Amino acid sequence: MNSLRGMNDFLPPEIHLWQHIESSLRAVSHRFGFEEVRTPILESTSVFKRGVGEDTDIVEKEMYSFEDKGGEHVTMRPEGTAPVARALIEQSWFRAHPVSKFYYIGPMFRYERPQKGRFRQFHQFGIELLGIAEWTADVEVMALTDAVLKEFGLSKVELHLNSVGCDSESCRPRYRKLLIEKLKTVESELPEDARNRIQKNPQRLFDHKDEKVQSLMKGMPVLLDHICQDCKSHFNGVQSGLKNLGIDFMINPNIVRGLDYYNRTAFEFLSSDLGAQSTVCGGGRYDKLIEQFGGPSVPAVGFGMGLERLVLIIQALGKLKVEFKSDVSVIYADDEGFMRAQLLCHELRLQGIHVDMDLQGKNIKNQFKRADKVGSKVSLVLGSQEISQKQVVLKDMKTQQQKNIPLDQIVNEINKLKV
Ligand code: ATP
Ligand code: MG
Repeated sequence: MNSLRGMNDFLPPEIHLWQHIESSLRAVSHRFGFEEVRTPILESTSVFKRGVGEDTDIVEKEMYSFEDKGGEHVTMRPEGTAPVARALIEQSWFRAHPVSKFYYIGPMFRYERPQKGRFRQFHQFGIELLGIAEWTADVEVMALTDAVLKEFGLSKVELHLNSVGCDSESCRPRYRKLLIEKLKTVESELPEDARNRIQKNPQRLFDHKDEKVQSLMKGMPVLLDHICQDCKSHFNGVQSGLKNLGIDFMINPNIVRGLDYYNRTAFEFLSSDLGAQSTVCGGGRYDKLIEQFGGPSVPAVGFGMGLERLVLIIQALGKLKVEFKSDVSVIYADDEGFMRAQLLCHELRLQGIHVDMDLQGKNIKNQFKRADKVGSKVSLVLGSQEISQKQVVLKDMKTQQQKNIPLDQIVNEINKLKV
């Protein structure tokens, strides 16, 4: 039996890198004042239809949706923002919290064609900053991404920035009309699925994967040149804030994002180490989402970061080595020593020390080999002789020096060594 296509198992040693990354992501988030939110993996399908948008790639073709045994239409979450919005509205969170800062880490599911950096079960780290309409929040969120990338020593990741405007008449709607007019002039050259989008969602064509469509779209007017005055000054604010923090960026009018709920700021962090799947993190502002969900009017900005892609870049750099090592090995010299050794091992573990011990009656030579293998810095050797003298032999694995320590002082001694 095999795992499903596009779904991965994580075993040692790779899992240690994942755990390290996850705990670093939590630590950086906490430093920025973000708290964790956890929502169920399974949601009502309507959460995503409404939250992500009916005519997005995700909802049209990528969702794992099914009817449960009670006949309810449910979906395994393809992204994290719509569930968080659903949860906060349901808990009336916004009544007492005008500003909130959340992060999430967990598996997402999309029925896509698996390839490098693209899977059917993948993991996202995401940030949601809710309640602040000003550009300062956008900068805060991108500063957090910058800190995350620096935490892992990634310097070759580029920030691409755009503004996708707003819904006021002089902004996106006016541009949309202009774009539809221009697209109609090349309609016959477009593949069918692209033609169908002209009226429904013409901007999405900038995100189309077909090369022909991409080259045609290069000649089309871009939204960034047509956003309203308010959006322009918001965008200028974002840029000045990023410059102030020394975060490099480039303006890329083609960043439109694949989800319906974005307005104003849209951004992606791209890495050249990833090949075709170059976006490690994508995000932006979604001021209307909470309202669309039946909640109060709460502006918001956030991002989703793909952890498989982050891991690929970290591995490509080869700088971050995460090891799983023991601090202490307990070694028994004879049968009598085994029982006391297992007790000592347990006592030390209860004191918070990472201890390894053989459980299969190996001879002392093999036990020392094992101590080397698991990386212990010291070994504690016990036999009937040591037990009768109420002491243990402490051996430094590097210098091979050894000394006798009274059994009741062993925890102190180990703590003193700071292994
Ligand atoms: P793409 O254009 O690569 O399909 P997307 O716009 O669909 O990305 P988002 O929905 O914004 O991606 O998700 C944010 C991040 O999650 C992406 O930048 C990427 O790193 C990661 N991601 C998205 N889909 C997958 C997937 N199928 N496998 C692995 N990572 C993914
Ligand atoms: Mg996608």
